[in-house]
Amino acid sequence: MLERGEVANSWRRERWDSLRLLTPNWQSRLPGLRYEGPDPDGYMTAGEVTELIERFAAATRAPVRTGENVISVRSAGDGYLVTSSSGEIACRAVVVASGACNRPSVPPFSGEVPASVEQLTPFDYRAPGKLPDGGVLVVGASATGVQLAAELQRSGRPVTLSVGEHVRLPRTYRGRDVLWWMDTAGVWDQRYDELDDLNRARRLPSPQLVGTPERATLDLNALTAMGVELVGRWAMVRDGRALFSGGLRNVFSLADLKMRRLLDTFDEWARGYGRDGEVGPAERPPATRVPQSTRLQLDLRRGEIRTIVWATGYRPEYGWLDVPVVDGKGQLRHDGGVVDSPGLYALGLPVLRRRKSTFIHGIEDDARAVVDHLVQHLATGDPGTGNVRSSGG
Ligand SMILES: Cc1cc2nc3c(=O)[nH]c(=O)nc-3n(C[C@H](O)[C@H](O)[C@H](O)COP(=O)(O)OP(=O)(O)OC[C@H]3O[C@@H](n4cnc5c(N)ncnc54)[C@H](O)[C@@H]3O)c2cc1C
Repeated sequence: MLERGEVANSWRRERWDSLRLLTPNWQSRLPGLRYEGPDPDGYMTAGEVTELIERFAAATRAPVRTGENVISVRSAGDGYLVTSSSGEIACRAVVVASGACNRPSVPPFSGEVPASVEQLTPFDYRAPGKLPDGGVLVVGASATGVQLAAELQRSGRPVTLSVGEHVRLPRTYRGRDVLWWMDTAGVWDQRYDELDDLNRARRLPSPQLVGTPERATLDLNALTAMGVELVGRWAMVRDGRALFSGGLRNVFSLADLKMRRLLDTFDEWARGYGRDGEVGPAERPPATRVPQSTRLQLDLRRGEIRTIVWATGYRPEYGWLDVPVVDGKGQLRHDGGVVDSPGLYALGLPVLRRRKSTFIHGIEDDARAVVDHLVQHLATGDPGTGNVRSSGG
């Protein structure tokens, strides 16, 4: 295992100070390593996630070579030649587990933002105190965006949040964590090859959730109540002005509709399995309130906005992969982790084999299935670009 940094590098280096997992402790498990502390319904800090992964590496005696950056992987004979900062390794199979979130995704028009406005990505952001005083424009209303908008607004900086398509979820539903429902009702276990629109599922933004001791819901209504101003999706920069789309009403209705459908599924599940008595009464969060008027543009030269935080998503980085398996959008071409080149595998990507693949606890089933295929490949030399369904994964 070659790691350019340290074990749990992304959790040490690429997270902001206050970040907690949005998945509860009971769910944030690794193979053979379950949460056994006093607060199964709590949410780990980034430091605690680092400790969890370190403990896992020690318990499994994972053969990690830290500080070893992979510079290139290319086909060689019936395998691959891996070049790292420490030398070369010839091997028959390679598992790409380099992460789905190596780089923040920032729209190209960020280059047209006036130089007087400071621009940050979640990789640069640590805490509100590191930002200049004054207004902040947070772009993107998924998990990262809503969490940073709330933290910055609480710090006394006026926050404007640019909202595009998003996934709305209440933190708790009928007295249980909403992710308990996802787990119990089998949503996390939905397989990649049984989803109606796999590409869409893989691109879906993270849900508007935060892990706090209060288990508070952090949706757009909560942010508006705190004083955050909502504007539409940021479309372009013209003459130093940010131009936003209108139509927030439609964006909100869509997110509300999808949330209600999901809650309907949970209710049906509870009824169908006779579990209604175990949980609270069915409820529906109020619709997202549409502001009376929303600004369609903001002059970035006026000084109202001192900082822009781009919470516009993350992307993987495969500049080192010299095998033609990356599509035009920069994503690996793979079928459930079996990459489009014999002996090349992937783990740790969104909805790789199940919906839960996006999260830490998804690795157990994914790794088992992918490793089964890999072992078969090594044993038989089978090019094996096919599905791994037969291996039980
Ligand atoms: C902001 C944020 C919040 C999240 N919150 C949650 C959550 O609440 N719950 C949850 O379950 N999941 C959460 N996730 C997802 C979680 O991070 C992933 O499920 C998990 O970290 C994936 O682990 P990984 O090892 O596959 O990838 P990563 O953690 O990205 O690790 C990849 C590793 O590969 C190394 N690497 C990359 N390129 C090279 C190279 N060329 N050479 C050598 N080494 C290399 C990196 O240094 C890194 O250590 C979150 C992700 C982000 C970005």
